[in-house]
Amino acid sequence: MPATQFKCKNGNKIPIKQCLSHCPNGQRCMFLPTLRSVAESLDRKLDKPSVTELISGTRETYLKKTQPYAVDPMQQLYAVHGTAVHTIQEGHNEGNIIAEERLADDITSGKFDLYGQIVDLSDNTLGDYKVTSSYKLMKALGYYKVDVPTGEVYKTGLKKGQPKTRKEWRTDGVKHVLEWAIQLNYYRILLEQAGFKVKDMVIQALCRDYSLRMAAERNITRPLYLIKINKISDHWIRWYMSAKAKKLKRSMSEHHLPARCSARERWHDRKCQSYCDVAEFCPYGRLMKRVADRAA
Ligand code: SF4
Ligand code: SF4
Repeated sequence: MPATQFKCKNGNKIPIKQCLSHCPNGQRCMFLPTLRSVAESLDRKLDKPSVTELISGTRETYLKKTQPYAVDPMQQLYAVHGTAVHTIQEGHNEGNIIAEERLADDITSGKFDLYGQIVDLSDNTLGDYKVTSSYKLMKALGYYKVDVPTGEVYKTGLKKGQPKTRKEWRTDGVKHVLEWAIQLNYYRILLEQAGFKVKDMVIQALCRDYSLRMAAERNITRPLYLIKINKISDHWIRWYMSAKAKKLKRSMSEHHLPARCSARERWHDRKCQSYCDVAEFCPYGRLMKRVADRAA
């Protein structure tokens, strides 16, 4: 079941159809055509779970498929960014470029953004658009800070005699891109099964909070980054996605709630507390929200 309601700015929920025909709040929170495109992006009729649905926690996907949940149209704007970019670029994909094709196999289906001659002379590059936060970008790029001695020592106070340090950025840290890597590698497998060779996988990541001081403090100095994704073995990817597809299928046919999402899938509870659209239907989500409310 796709989302059936929108969450308004004032916290009320309204059936999407009702919102599109009349806003009871006096003035719409965004233009009607934008709301229509957000509604359309939510209404995907797929006969098997998509790559992105399988990458999410199984409990989250199960609840999204079975519960009449509500979404904040503002948050969904980022999700429709890919479609918007395609529209802007329509007519500019000439040459050896294929865009937005849905491919499927016996496990899942996925729609890749771009394939072809998109970053260099190789015409075998698979590309994906992302709109993301400076925090996620900093982690994805492997940026981290270290303390570097300045050569001076503290002359007074509690730290007297200890060396002074300053923070310096390093860019060779672990790149936290596992979910993006699983997604692109699955698209790669689908393309290769269809007879297309894939030499490189690249994400074009647009930073949505680039203009804020916070982004500069995270060493994000450009609005857009290209991030290369490494190959993961076909065997591992297919095994992982097939196990998740089976778990979801079993839960759907037996109508039982799957185990809670893994710590990584639930962003170590941050998602349950603030970002999961189906948290109100999830016992763990309700608990985490109570914990968050008590701490506030
Ligand atoms: S236009 Fe925005 S504020 Fe009005 S009903 Fe729809 S979601 Fe709510
Ligand atoms: S609230 Fe947390 S555990 Fe529950 S479905 Fe959402 S992400 Fe998963």
